[in-house]
Amino acid sequence: MRTEATIGRTFVDRLIEEHMQGANIVNEVSMAKSWITDLSQKVAVECMQLYGGYGYMEEYEIARRYRDVAVNSIYAGTNEIMKVIIAKNLGL
Ligand SMILES: Cc1cc2nc3c(=O)[nH]c(=O)nc-3n(C[C@H](O)[C@H](O)[C@H](O)COP(=O)(O)OP(=O)(O)OC[C@H]3O[C@@H](n4cnc5c(N)ncnc54)[C@H](O)[C@@H]3O)c2cc1C
Repeated sequence: MRTEATIGRTFVDRLIEEHMQGANIVNEVSMAKSWITDLSQKVAVECMQLYGGYGYMEEYEIARRYRDVAVNSIYAGTNEIMKVIIAKNLGL
């Protein structure tokens, strides 16, 4: 999980640098938004599982993290729409 999170962070850091340099990174941002928010859901599921039954109890923060992470792939443009943007920019 740490490896995947580090890969995602590295990608975002690179995009921030390119954005600050004025590059057109619409496609890469759409890739980052969909891939990283999908990844965050996968990681949240694994973390919740680590806690066993406690992971599902509201008293534990991971339960809320597990529930709330889902919205990241919905707001600010759903991940399906991100894929439409990527496909269009690829000329598909
Ligand atoms: C907590 C929260 C905060 C939000 N904040 C804001 C905000 O500040 N500003 C704002 O403008 N909006 C905001 N939204 C709205 C959010 O951006 C929309 O929910 C989002 O755009 C999806 O639109 P929809 O809910 O109408 O789903 P729909 O458009 O009805 O889509 C339903 C499903 O179909 C998929 N889908 C739709 N069209 C296509 C297509 N052409 N190809 C493939 N799949 C498709 C979608 O990806 C989705 O999975 C917020 C939403 C939430 C939940």
